[in-house]
Formats: sequence, C-alpha cells, structure tokens
Amino acid sequence: MDALPQALIENSTEAVVMLNADGTIRFASQASVRLLGYSLEERVGHDGFELVHPDDVARTRAAFAEVLRQPGVPLETEHRMRHKNGDWRDIAFIAVSRLDDPDVRAVVVNYHDVTERRRAERAVRDSETRLRRIVEHAQDLIYYCDPAGRFTYVNPTAERVMKYSQDELLGRHFMTLIRPDYRDAAVELYTRQIVEHVPNTYFEFPSVTKDGDVLWIGQHVQLVYEGETIVAVHAIARDITRQKNAEERLRRSEARYRSLIQGAAYGIYRSTFQGEILDANPAFARMLGYDSVQDLLTHNMRELYRTPAERVELIRRFAGEQYGDADVAWQRKDGTPILVHLTTRTVDVEVGVGGFEGIAEDITERRALEEQLRQAQKMEAVGRLARGVAHDFNNVLAAIIGSSDLLTASLPHDDPRREEAEEIRKAAERGAALTRQLLAFSRRQVLQPEVLDLKVVAEQLHGMLQRMVGDAIAIHTRASDCPAPVRMEPGQLEQVLMNLVVNARDAMPDGGTIDITIDPVSLDERSVLRYPGISAGDYARIAVRDTGVGIAVEQQAHVFEPFFTTKSPSKGTGLGLSIIYGIAKENGGAVTFSTAANEGTTFEVLLPLVQS
Ligand code: ADP
Ligand code: MG
Repeated sequence: MDALPQALIENSTEAVVMLNADGTIRFASQASVRLLGYSLEERVGHDGFELVHPDDVARTRAAFAEVLRQPGVPLETEHRMRHKNGDWRDIAFIAVSRLDDPDVRAVVVNYHDVTERRRAERAVRDSETRLRRIVEHAQDLIYYCDPAGRFTYVNPTAERVMKYSQDELLGRHFMTLIRPDYRDAAVELYTRQIVEHVPNTYFEFPSVTKDGDVLWIGQHVQLVYEGETIVAVHAIARDITRQKNAEERLRRSEARYRSLIQGAAYGIYRSTFQGEILDANPAFARMLGYDSVQDLLTHNMRELYRTPAERVELIRRFAGEQYGDADVAWQRKDGTPILVHLTTRTVDVEVGVGGFEGIAEDITERRALEEQLRQAQKMEAVGRLARGVAHDFNNVLAAIIGSSDLLTASLPHDDPRREEAEEIRKAAERGAALTRQLLAFSRRQVLQPEVLDLKVVAEQLHGMLQRMVGDAIAIHTRASDCPAPVRMEPGQLEQVLMNLVVNARDAMPDGGTIDITIDPVSLDERSVLRYPGISAGDYARIAVRDTGVGIAVEQQAHVFEPFFTTKSPSKGTGLGLSIIYGIAKENGGAVTFSTAANEGTTFEVLLPLVQS
C-alpha cells in the first residue's frame, strides 16, 4: 500500500478492515483498534463476524453475500458489535467488494461507531412518543392552529367533545366553534395577544358542538415562536360546563337570598361582638334613619343604644346562647328614641370572629298603640264606675238638699240653727257641683257643640283666668295668626282651659309664669305618635306651660285617672285632668304632657281643626 493512503487510513476516525472472501480479516486499521478495544493481533486473521451480536449475524452474513455478489457496488448496513469491555456498540458499515481488483483483492469495509447518535435519536423518539401519548390521551382538548387561526392539529378529545371528526376540523377556523355572541370578545382578546405578544391567555366562552349543544370552554392559548415570528398557536381547553352551571346556580341562589334580605320589611344585620356592623339591609338603615346602608356601616352597634350599658347587658345575657330576643331602647340617627324587638343568633361572622346575626323590628308604634288601648280601657272602666256613683250620689244629695230646705223652713227666722241648716245645704250643693262634673266626664250631659275659634275663646277667658291665679303668676296668651276653629261645646272649652290653668297655678306656690299658646298643627304618621288615640291630620293645639315643680316620674302614669290627686282633700278632687281627657276624646282629640322636675310642665290638648 502507498504511504499516503496508508497515513490517511491510519489517522481517520473511520475504521477500515479488509476481509477475504471467506470473511477472515486480512487488514485492520489503527482506528478499528480504538473502536472496539481489540489490538491488531487480536483481530487480524480472525473471523470478521466473530464480534457481531448473535441476533444480527444472519442479517450481516446475508449482506456480506450480497456484497460478494455485486463487486464494486457499495452496500450500507448497520449492526451491533461487542466491544472488548463487553458493551454492545452500534456500528454503521459501508462494504464494497474489490476482490477482482488485482491491487486490493479484498472486501473493503469502512465503519464507524453510531451508538451515541442512535441513543440520542431513540431518546428523541421516545420522548416524542410519550408527548404524543399524553396529548392523545389527555382529557383536555388540545389543538394547534396556524397564526391565522385554522386548526392544524386536534387531539381525539377535541373531536369527541366537539363531535366533529379530525377531518372536519383541520383547516377550519377555530372562531367558528365559538358561540356568535362571544366572537367579538374572542377576536379582541386573541388579536391583542398576537399584536402585543402576550405569551399566555385564558378565556371562558360558550362553544357550539356539531350537534348544536352549547358547552362552556375554558381555554389557555400560548403563542409558538420561531425566532421573532409567531408560527403557531397552541391551545389547551377544557369543558367547564358543569362548573359553569354550578357557578350559575350558586350565583342565582345567592341573588335570590340577597333579594329576600334586601327586600325584607324587617331590619337584618350582622355585627361582631365589638359592635362593628358588617352588613345590613336597607330596611335596617331606614328604620334607624340613616341615608343608606353604606352610611350605617360606618357606625357601631353601640351608637344605636340609648344607654350603651344595655348592649353590654344583652351580650352578657346572650353569651353561650344560640338565640336570644329582647326589646331594646334604640335611637334613630337624629336621636329619636325607638323601641326595637331584637332577635339574634350567635354566629361566627368570620373565621374565629364571634358576632351576631340579628332581625330587628321597630315596635315603637305598636307599643304606643297597646299602651293607648290599655289606658283607654282603664278610663272607660273608671268612667262607668264614676257614672254609677254620680247617679246614686245625686239622689242622696237631692234628699239632703230637700231635707235641709224643709228644716230651714220649719225653723223660725231668728233661730241660730238656721245657719247650720244653711251649711248643710251649701255642702250638699258643692257635692252636687262635683257630681255634675263627674257626669260631664261620663258623658251623660246633652252637649250643644258649635264652631269656635280657640283664639277668640282664649282671649275672652284671659281676664277670668288671670283673676283665678292671682298676682304672683303672670299669664301670657299667644295665638298664631292662623285661625284655629274647632267644633265643641263652649262650656267644655272653658273647663279645659280653667282646669289646666288651675293645675299650673297649684304647681307654682311661689309664683311664676303661665304661657298659653294656641296654634294649628299638622301631624304626620310619626309625629302623631306623641298624642295617644288620634290619627295623622290637622289639629288645633292648646298648650299650657308652667314653670312649676313638674310631675314626679312615678305619678306620670296616673295623672289622668279620675280621683288621682296629690293635693289635700280641700284643694284637689283628682278629676280635672280626667275631665280634660274625656272632653278631648269626645271631640276626637287628645291630651298629653311633657314635664321636668322643678322646670315645669306643658300640657297639650289637640282638637280636630274644622276645615272652613
Ligand atoms: P287635682 O288638680 O284635683 O289634683 P287633676 O286631675 O287636675 O286633679 O290633677 C291630678 C294631679 O296631677 C295633680 O294632683 C298633680 O299632682 C298633677 N298635676 C296636674 N297638673 C300639674 C301641673 N301643671 N304641674 C304639676 N303637677 C300637675
Ligand atoms: Mg286640677
């Protein structure tokens, strides 16, 4: 062999062997030593097939036969050979028969080790198989689109879910599967994704299957780049119809409960033990006079109580109880007192935070009506009693007066006993005056009502009233410019004014001032609550205010009762206010008072205004 080819052969990474026609090795290059770890001595003269993997021997021999059959035609083959260290190596061969070339007379075999390359190829193949398997068996819809949005691949799940075959989907635009009302939103999103290079997006939309069913799909879309260019779009999508329906059901049921609470007539709220108001419905805000629920939420439950101690006491009472209810004295935002019936449940308003869920009902009006009814019943009963007593008493007095007249007549003019007889008559007459009052109270008298202007009557009576109270007390009568006409018996109106003024006088033993105010008033549903027994409307009001001692708290509930008096028997009968009560009632009006110890008392009598 020439020196140059020899050098080439020896330095090549490509191993070269020359075989005789029987397959024995006639020559082996240095590179072949490096390839399989055997020395030249170990190889030259040996069978060329001896290191071939047993499974590959038959195939290799066949290839060798083929080479021998076609001299000069190279043949490529690949088989495994054993390295001296015991490993199997993948070797690629090119063999050509030069047996008929007188200069060579051998089969020349070039070969090199492709083990690493084959291993890498296998790894790629394996991982591709694995990925394909994942994609094909995925429960999610997986597909690729070209940048224009046409399907280039769809997995079996996508076919199954959308009910289209792969053939029907490939080349189709993905937008055609989105329900029309969502297409604009989808176009906008995916245009933006591509223009702004948003790597990932998630979008939920209703899609329509081939059968026309609507499915909710939640879809992740990812851009695939080659360099700077977007070459494809990958999508992983999932049928979220069930989840969507469940969400929708939950949303609807929440909305239903919300509307139930928002529309409730009762106040409903949630608060912490500390009094933070977490939630409330409009009825609750309205009941408490707040402009809105929002406004109310900035306040604390403590502010609703007229006395904060009441809340502390309630919490103490409810502690450890699941439910509790109580009537509580609350106040509206403007300070108006209200009575509220509260039903509460102790709950965890948040994890680990204790609080209340409560239902509140404003019972101010109901309680006022109950109270009025009780009062009216009591007055009615006492009135009936008084009527009976007055009737019998009148007969007794008539007998006394008659007898004292007879006694007087039977006595001589100068008889000193006549004076005693006169005294008996006078006392009996005072008693008769009292029974007349009682009868007036019990409505036995025939009344002759007429239309009177309160202002005029008050002015006419002014002089008489001033004389009744004496010089130590000044009476100021003020009347508004508006006339205040009422329909009633003039005598009754006098009785009302006189009784009020006399009571005021008695309350001011050291003198003072009496203010009489006459004016028309218009009462709405709420302001009318101050006056028991009447409904909203227009009234004429007589207010008599004194600067006297006031009415003690424990006596306030009793002043309208007949015979209730705090005065000595010679001064008081306890009938004045009950008569006023009776007169006011009879004429469709009402009487009430406000008082403060040592500051004075104001009595108000309301009578229906006669519309001219
Ligand atoms: P009498 O005046 O005969 O006692 P009334 O029915 O007129 O009976 O009054 C009942 C009670 O109400 C009085 O005894 C008094 O205690 C109280 N009272 C009435 N008016 C006043 C007033 N202006 N100031 C203080 N107390 C009053
Ligand atoms: Mg009196």
